[in-house]
Amino acid sequence: MSPTSKSDEVPSMHTSKKRQNNFFIVCSKCKTSCCKGARPPLTDQRRKILEAHLKDHEICIEDPFIQTSYTFPKEDAEGYCIFYDRKTSKCLVHPVKPETCVAGPITFDINVKSEKIEWYLKIEKTCPLAEALYRNEEALQKHGELAKKEILRVVSELDTEALKAILKIEEPETLKIDEEKIGKDILSKLSSDSQGGGPAGI
Ligand code: SF4
Repeated sequence: MSPTSKSDEVPSMHTSKKRQNNFFIVCSKCKTSCCKGARPPLTDQRRKILEAHLKDHEICIEDPFIQTSYTFPKEDAEGYCIFYDRKTSKCLVHPVKPETCVAGPITFDINVKSEKIEWYLKIEKTCPLAEALYRNEEALQKHGELAKKEILRVVSELDTEALKAILKIEEPETLKIDEEKIGKDILSKLSSDSQGGGPAGI
């Protein structure tokens, strides 16, 4: 599973100047969908951006968000994100999608004891994009940089209750790929007994 060999299965994705690289060539081969049961956390800022995008593109979805311990997009009867287009298998809000959707298949956990954020990548058998990234070291590095930036932004902006809630969601089929020190501002939101259960399943 180590990213040891080069491949051009993910062409040009690291050269895009857009926020979200276009992985559709890979993701369209997926037999499942990470947009089912995804429940990506939405900050107030992201929610406003999504609402503006829906309005600008005349996408009419009644009450598109659910607020529990954190806010996430509503789901359809089968558990797919309300922004997932079942006909095209594409995201209706792709340019402004939630940070954790941009970061996928990279996810994270926060270890309060070590004061580190840990980075994980989904395993190949559950995600074709993860498989492509494992085979392309440069692409993995570039996507990793982007994913870290997006996730660090969302964990900084989420309130304590929301951050604790998403850290409790398990994502067992992942491999740890990196870790780094995290800021005191983020650590201060978390109590010592709330973390360490594995990467967040978002
Ligand atoms: S926002 Fe888009 S990418 Fe994220 S779960 Fe929903 S449909 Fe999928």
